[in-house]
Amino acid sequence: MTPPSSLPGLPADEATAIAQGLSIIVPVYNEAAGLEQLHERLSALAAKLRQRFSLACEVVYVDDGSTDDTLKLARALSATVLDVQVVSLSRNFGKEAALMAGLDHARRGALLFMDGDGQHSPDLVERLVDHWINDGFDVIYTAKSHRTNESLLRRIGVHSFYAIINWGARQRIPEDAGDFRLLSPRAAAALRRMPERNRFFKGLASWIGFRQFRVDYEPDVRAHGMTTFNAARLLGLSIEGLTSFSVAPLRLASLLGLLLALAAFLFGLSILWETLVDGESVPGYPSLVVGIMTLGGVQLLMIGIMGEYIGKILSELKARPIYFVAEHSVKQAESEPSAG
Ligand code: UDP
Ligand code: MG
Repeated sequence: MTPPSSLPGLPADEATAIAQGLSIIVPVYNEAAGLEQLHERLSALAAKLRQRFSLACEVVYVDDGSTDDTLKLARALSATVLDVQVVSLSRNFGKEAALMAGLDHARRGALLFMDGDGQHSPDLVERLVDHWINDGFDVIYTAKSHRTNESLLRRIGVHSFYAIINWGARQRIPEDAGDFRLLSPRAAAALRRMPERNRFFKGLASWIGFRQFRVDYEPDVRAHGMTTFNAARLLGLSIEGLTSFSVAPLRLASLLGLLLALAAFLFGLSILWETLVDGESVPGYPSLVVGIMTLGGVQLLMIGIMGEYIGKILSELKARPIYFVAEHSVKQAESEPSAG
């Protein structure tokens, strides 16, 4: 009998988990220049995984409303060693939505999330799979081994983001962890059960728990083109992540209010002291303006923070689909390995 808390669709044992194979999810947005090369590398990888672990693979390319030839090229990719799915979204929904579409379409047990720009090296995947199959880990995530090539401002921003989001959190989101990660079938099943539509994958994948393992790596340089995540978009993602993962900003509001009230109280005491004991008349104008401006600023900031949460409630309430699929194709690999 299965306990009520167990996840549906779980394999009975490790052998069946491996037999379910691996889905590689690759979001692609205007990646035409490197797509064919990536597919070649993934095919080579699939051949290796099949030989070493007898693991069957499929790749799910999620075209996130590309405006270049990405979709055309993706349709033409051949399924020699691994099954190829191409899911084309009706417009650009953003990477998190594209990952979600990949998750929904993946047909195999384990999941691997990977960028389509060549920065996440297929060569590393063999190691991730090894940690899953031979060491029994459920979530194998990768982290940039250093950030020396990023600007000081960006590093400070990233650091404060994780400091806030992990403040008082039971399950910390590891700093520097990327979206490049492998999930065992039971971790994948857990991820599928998350009902929210505002998704922050890094957060969710660590929130589910299970046996997590960190692999440090050096990200390759982008094969072509430029990153689509500029400062504004990163800020957007940070606010998204913060407000969907922690109430720390709200707690910060209460804390700030408390501190301000305390400061005002002490200030009032000192004014009273000056008037009663020293007999000074108080020239109030500058302190008044400072007080009003501080309070006004803090209140506006906190209203803004609450607005973020209310907006989140609204979008969860509307329960809109996260993406629409315009086109979906599946190509079966030419020869299936004997599963078992
Ligand atoms: N991407 C996407 N939709 C978007 C933006 C990006 O699917 O709206 C994909 C993109 O094709 C790539 C991955 O997300 O495979 C990471 O994007 P990018 O390299 O621009 O980000 P970075 O590596 O700088 O974080
Ligand atoms: Mg990139």
